[in-house]
Amino acid sequence: MCGGGAAGVAAAVGAARAGAKVALVERAPFLGGAATRSSILTYCGFWTQADPPTQIVGGVGGDVLRSLAELNGIMGPIRTASTNVVIALIEPEPVKLALDRICAQTGIDVILHAQVCDAEIDGDRVWRAVVLDHGGRFALDAQAFVDASGEADLAEQAGAATRYADGTHAPQNGTLAMRVGGIAEDADVSRDAWARAVRSAKARGALHLTKENGLVVRLPHSGEILAFLADEAYDARDARSVSAAERRAREQAWAITEAIRHLPGHERAYLIATGPAIGTRESRHVVARERLRGVEVLSGRVGWSTVALGGWPVELHLGPGRPSVWKRIRDDGPYGIPLDTLRSASFVNLFAAGRVIDADGDAFGSARVMGTAFATGHASGVAAALVASGHSAEVAAVRAELLRQHAILALDA
Ligand SMILES: Cc1cc2nc3c(=O)[nH]c(=O)nc-3n(C[C@H](O)[C@H](O)[C@H](O)COP(=O)(O)OP(=O)(O)OC[C@H]3O[C@@H](n4cnc5c(N)ncnc54)[C@H](O)[C@@H]3O)c2cc1C
Repeated sequence: MCGGGAAGVAAAVGAARAGAKVALVERAPFLGGAATRSSILTYCGFWTQADPPTQIVGGVGGDVLRSLAELNGIMGPIRTASTNVVIALIEPEPVKLALDRICAQTGIDVILHAQVCDAEIDGDRVWRAVVLDHGGRFALDAQAFVDASGEADLAEQAGAATRYADGTHAPQNGTLAMRVGGIAEDADVSRDAWARAVRSAKARGALHLTKENGLVVRLPHSGEILAFLADEAYDARDARSVSAAERRAREQAWAITEAIRHLPGHERAYLIATGPAIGTRESRHVVARERLRGVEVLSGRVGWSTVALGGWPVELHLGPGRPSVWKRIRDDGPYGIPLDTLRSASFVNLFAAGRVIDADGDAFGSARVMGTAFATGHASGVAAALVASGHSAEVAAVRAELLRQHAILALDA
């Protein structure tokens, strides 16, 4: 497994529970991906948007939710007042611990501080991932692979067909999260109040500011404010481009902190932390046998080949500072994600999970969130385990194993 975010952990645990011997390679010093590396501390996609919401991600994702609850590290599901969507607030340290534990319990060889940097192929199969750590390069040979890197690194290195964003438009913009302390408990920390402060700062000539209206929430335990306002456009494949975007975004975070000090109860606001890494919404996708389409997502279709359920509305971030675009799914229900959208078109033993799955712009606007990444990761891990054990990853076999592992594949299941 390449990448230890929501998708990679679910893939690894799902594969191990299906009987495979699994190695999980993650370049960060901990698991969790965007949640722990970029402070994306709101789990979305685990529930439908209906009233009341229904849980649509079980299996590995469900186990992680339970573990977080035991660690007092999650609050939700709750419905946001400003955007009327169902989320859960999480804390980063419980996420790291919960993911460490579930991987240890399933016997996964977790290799942190290491990056997949090359791959070798034989015909229509990938057979080796080359990994780089401070000791140099070493090889991991396997019968099947899951790319959950967020950037489709493994697929690209193997020479599989990939696509940057949807191939025609720019990818969704990234955002550097910021955590702010020193704000009075009774202060108005709504997104409208912060938007007014940012607009006033822009009017006063403050430089660097892009977005006015983004997520602003108080975290349950620390009481810190988490905000997604420092938008940037960049090419996530290019380290210089990412570095420059992060420099600009840190300037924004300081300027936003300065701006909100003009609000009542915010006079002593200070910047606790940014990122640490900028959050990349979209980069490369693996070209799969099938592309998940926005029309299918919005119609709430759950087809026969469904191996994961999505339920987050289409949420598009179409450029720094531009207001997000929202489209609700029919009846606020779930939609099905077919197995073939996770299966590389180039290699029979390579699967995609999380934000690298094959999806058009609208479909990706929904399927990219972490709850859904747990679900697609679980499905890809199970499919990879079946291939590794010499079976073919037919829809019926993948669904049967997912259901045995308590995944949710339909609301009436
Ligand atoms: C600003 C922002 C706000 C968001 N808001 C929300 C939200 O509120 N709720 C929500 O649910 N989702 C949200 N998302 C979306 C969500 O965070 C991601 O789409 C989700 O994390 C995808 O999970 P993943 O496991 O596919 O990828 P990631 O979480 O990105 O994990 C990929 C992992 O792979 C590792 N990796 C990459 N390349 C390699 C390599 N070559 N070798 C080894 N390891 C590698 C990375 O270090 C990383 O840990 C947001 C995203 C952004 C950027």
